[in-house]
Amino acid sequence: MSVARLKDWVQRVWVPKLPQAFQQGKMPYLFGFEVVVILTAFGSALLDPYPQITQSVIVFCLMLTGQLVLIARGMPLNRAIHLACTIGVCFLIHATWAAGGVHSPRLSWLLIVPVIPFYIIGPRAGYGWLAVVFAAQLLMAFLTDRGWLAPAQTLDTDALTLFSFFILSVASLILLFVPLLYDRQYQIALREGRARQKELENKQAELLQALEMREHFIASVSHELRTPMNAILGFSSLLTKEVQHKPRAMEILDHTRQSADHLLTVINDVLDYSQFLTGGLTAHAETFELRETVRHAFDLFTPRVQSMDLNYRCEIADDVPQWVRTDRHRLMQILVNLLGNALKFTHQGEVVLRVQCHSTGVQFSVQDTGIGIALHDQPRIFSRFMQAQGDIQKHYGGNGLGLAITQGLVELLEGEIGFDSTPGQGSRFWFTLPLQAQSPPASVKGPVARALQTADQAWQFLVVDDHRLNRLLVKQALKNAWPNSVVVEAENGANALTLWRAQRFDLVFMDMLMPVMDGVQATQAIRQSFTSHGLAPVIGLTANVNPQDLARFKDAGLSALLLKPFDPVQLCNEVEALLLRGAPRAPVPPG
Ligand code: ADP
Repeated sequence: MSVARLKDWVQRVWVPKLPQAFQQGKMPYLFGFEVVVILTAFGSALLDPYPQITQSVIVFCLMLTGQLVLIARGMPLNRAIHLACTIGVCFLIHATWAAGGVHSPRLSWLLIVPVIPFYIIGPRAGYGWLAVVFAAQLLMAFLTDRGWLAPAQTLDTDALTLFSFFILSVASLILLFVPLLYDRQYQIALREGRARQKELENKQAELLQALEMREHFIASVSHELRTPMNAILGFSSLLTKEVQHKPRAMEILDHTRQSADHLLTVINDVLDYSQFLTGGLTAHAETFELRETVRHAFDLFTPRVQSMDLNYRCEIADDVPQWVRTDRHRLMQILVNLLGNALKFTHQGEVVLRVQCHSTGVQFSVQDTGIGIALHDQPRIFSRFMQAQGDIQKHYGGNGLGLAITQGLVELLEGEIGFDSTPGQGSRFWFTLPLQAQSPPASVKGPVARALQTADQAWQFLVVDDHRLNRLLVKQALKNAWPNSVVVEAENGANALTLWRAQRFDLVFMDMLMPVMDGVQATQAIRQSFTSHGLAPVIGLTANVNPQDLARFKDAGLSALLLKPFDPVQLCNEVEALLLRGAPRAPVPPG
């Protein structure tokens, strides 16, 4: 039978029969070793040429057995081993003292004592016990030298020889066998550890791959969802102008726009959350007017509140700084999330948005007199997919991501968020941001509808997009702003290049993701072509919000990059600015 099979057999058949405390790790070995010591002690007592020692051997064996019982009852292992060593050393000192002192073969038993603490507790314990053993040997030599031993016995030389041989052989075997066993155990543990490490490495590679696929999946789903949203939002914005004098049509259009806005919020929530998980969300600081942004977020809900019996108001303290620097878009998102929740869960009373100075910057708070949050739900309210009370989803909808994202966004802007709430009376959600007063920027941009200086110019535009509706939307926005312009369409980068080489264009709109030839390749080719109009501005359009992709798009040689869904007014302002400037490369932050 091989050692491995023997071990397997012992593990399967014997180990389960041991008391619970001896079934794990090194414990079966300790148990086996102590049983061997007890049996050997009995055996040696039978062979021992000094008959009066039998009683002390029995005491020793009983004490070791008692120690095993104590371990089985829960005595800590280290303490049990020190106890066994103490019993062993005391017994051997007594046994050696009674049998000739330093001349006694029993002295060699002492050498075994440090082996167990060495391998089971650790080298320090082993060396400690080696020192004790050495001291015991010195003591025995001293006692022998002084003749202070037990009265000498008359011994049978044959018996003594046999006894000495027995003791020395067993002690040598133990000293040989224990390190071997330990080494074997170590090798097995090492092999298992390496196999486990390999398994973990494979698992990690699988996880990384899954993560990459998930990111890719989310990016493409978001792209696919944002592309039609671009058409829906853009066309309804264009249509608003056409139906201004028809109240019923305006109402329907308003509903369409609100639903589309809501859908866009859900898409953005899912995307933001997945970017949080991968650490891909970044803040883009800009200097802006705080009051205007807060008002804008507040006003978004005014139409909704009109049909409700609510005192909805915004209070901004006089000392709040006028201009601040942070990510305006993310601040809007936080305010919109908190205001949206407050209005969702409040049926009467008031919802107040307050902004005031705070020791760490500016504090924003949204207070409502709504349903409040049950005490047992409060500790988990910022956890993802968390909705208080079982029927919240049924009555109020929502995905339980809003507050988790809001908290992440506040942390992204280096702020703090918190709330207090009384069930049945209302809640107050607050956050503080480290905002300092800033001086106003030199030029202020924004999607403000202003009269275009070049409205009557006959510009030549090239619109490149694989989606017919998106081309139509851009074309319509351009035609509204510049009625005399000519808009030529191309459905991929390759067609765009053919057109580009054949005729002159003042500005190109380039979708970044297209079949056959994408926007990056097409823009690079346009920049390298030596046509007379090679420096015409190229505006990139994308529904992709992955930061790495955005950086790659900007590097392709674009003059500006706009995110879909884009605002037609912003688009036209951007176009005119570029046409007037006449410069091809002046990257503008997305949004
Ligand atoms: P949801 O999309 O479900 O609103 P949130 O993360 O924004 O997800 O909110 C999580 C839960 O916190 C909500 O379902 C609701 O139970 C509770 N909650 C959030 N804001 C309020 C509030 N102002 N009043 C009462 N409950 C709130």
